[in-house]
Amino acid sequence: MSNMDISIRRKPQDGRTKVKYEDKEYDLRIATIPASYGEQMNIRILDQSQASASLQDLGLPEKLLTLLEEATSRPQGIILVTGPTGSGKSTTLYACLCKLNSPSKKILTVEDPIEFDIPGVNQVGVEPKTGLSFAAGLRSILRHDPDVVMVGEIRDEETASVALQAGMTGHLVFSTVHTNDSPSAITRLMDLGIEPFVISNALLCIVGQRLVRKICEKCKEPDPLTSQIIERIHPFLPQGSEQKTFWKGRRCEACQYTGYSDRIGIFEVLRITPSLRELIVPKVSALRLKQAAQQEGFEPMTQDGIRKALDGHTTIDEIFRVAPPEVGQVSEMLLSEPIDKEQGTFIKSQFVDGQFSAGAIRPKKILVVDDDDVFLRLVETILEAENYQIITALNGKEGLKLAIEEKPDLIITDLQMPEMDGITFVKKLKSQLSTRIIPTIMLTIRDDLSAEVKGLEAGADDYLVKPIESERLIVRVRRFFNSTLPAN
Ligand SMILES: [Zn+2]
Repeated sequence: MSNMDISIRRKPQDGRTKVKYEDKEYDLRIATIPASYGEQMNIRILDQSQASASLQDLGLPEKLLTLLEEATSRPQGIILVTGPTGSGKSTTLYACLCKLNSPSKKILTVEDPIEFDIPGVNQVGVEPKTGLSFAAGLRSILRHDPDVVMVGEIRDEETASVALQAGMTGHLVFSTVHTNDSPSAITRLMDLGIEPFVISNALLCIVGQRLVRKICEKCKEPDPLTSQIIERIHPFLPQGSEQKTFWKGRRCEACQYTGYSDRIGIFEVLRITPSLRELIVPKVSALRLKQAAQQEGFEPMTQDGIRKALDGHTTIDEIFRVAPPEVGQVSEMLLSEPIDKEQGTFIKSQFVDGQFSAGAIRPKKILVVDDDDVFLRLVETILEAENYQIITALNGKEGLKLAIEEKPDLIITDLQMPEMDGITFVKKLKSQLSTRIIPTIMLTIRDDLSAEVKGLEAGADDYLVKPIESERLIVRVRRFFNSTLPAN
C-alpha cells in the first residue's frame, strides 16, 4: 500500500504510488499522522503531465516570458521563484528545467520531496533523517560540476549562501523563496545574512506568482462591477479599457456550482537591472526596490491578473483574493468595506447617504421546498404574517438553484420529492461553501424515526413533523434567528 506499513498506526508515515485515470498517470503522495481520532491522511495528487508543461503553457505574458527566457539562457546566476505554498512555483521551476534539458547539459536537483521525475535529470530527495539537508545536498551535487542546479527552497542562511555562491561560480541556479512578492525576496536574502553585493552579483531575475481559478466556460457571463471596484482597479487598467467587460461564472452543474473550473497563473518578473543592482544595499526596503523597478517597467502581478480578468480568463474577485491592488488613492470608505469571506466579494456598504439602507433591516428570507403546492401556500401564509420573506421551490433541484442564487437565511425542506429528494438536497447544500452555513429544517411524517435520523445525518439542523401546526412552525423558525421577537 504505497510502501506504507498498515500495522504502524502510531507513527507518521509517508508513501507514494501511481494511479492511472482516463489514460493519464497521476502520482499520489501520501502522508499519515496519528491524530486524536485515529490516523489522519493527506493525499497530494500530482499530474505527471504537468511536469512537462512548457514555459509557454504556464500563462506567462509574452513580455515576461521573454525576460525569463533571457535569464535562463545565461551561463551562470540565480533565478528565484516566489509565492506562498500552492502558488505553482514548482511547476514554473520544472518548466525552466525542461526547457534547458538536453544531453549536452548536466542538470542536478535537490528537492523535498521530488515532485516530478524529469528524464535525464538527476534528482536528489532531501532526507532529514540521514542529515541530507538542502544545504548538504546542494554542496554534494556541486561537486559533480553541474551546469544547472535546482534547490527546492531557500529557507536558511546556509542554503542561501551556498546557492548564491554557486550562482557566481559558473552554475545556473534555480530556487524558490517563500515571500509575497518578488522585491521582498531580495530583502529576505539580506535578512538571512547574505551580503548585498553577493545578492546583486548573483541574482538574474525573480518570478512572483499566484494561481487563480479560471471561469467555467459553460456558465460564463458578464460581471457588472460596482463603481467602487472599478475605482480600486483603475490604476491597473490599460488605457481605454474602462468600458470593457469583466466576467464571472453563473455557477452550473458542470462546475459543481462554483463558477470556476481549472486554474491559471498570474505573474510578475523582476529583472535585476544594473540600476537596481546599485540599489541593493544594506537596509533598503522592498518598497523602495519595487518603486525603482516600476520606473523601469516592472509590473506587479496584480497587473497581469487584471489583464487576465479583462481577457475573460478569471474574475476580479479572484484577483482581489490572491493579489489585491495595493491601496493608494483609495477612499477611506472603501478601506472600511468588509470583504465577505465566503464569496470573496464586497458586501455593499449599509451606510448610504447618512442613513442605513434597507439591507440592515431587511426581513429574513426563508426558502421552502416541497412538491405539495397547497402545503407551500400554507407555510407561506403563516410565515409572511410573521414578516418573513418566503421563496418556494417544488423539488430539491429547483431548491438548490434558489439556495445558491437567493442566499436564504433559512431553508425548510420536505423529505419525499420528485427529481431530487430532501436528503440529497440537504447533502448538496452542506457540501458547498456558499450554502453550507444556511440552517436547514427537514419536514418528516409523525413517528418516522428513520427519516428523522437520516435527515439529521445528512446535515439538517432540525426537523419538523407534518402535518404542520402554525405555532410550532413559528417557534422553530424564530429559534434559528436567535430571537423570540418577530422578524421585521
Ligand atoms: Zn459552470
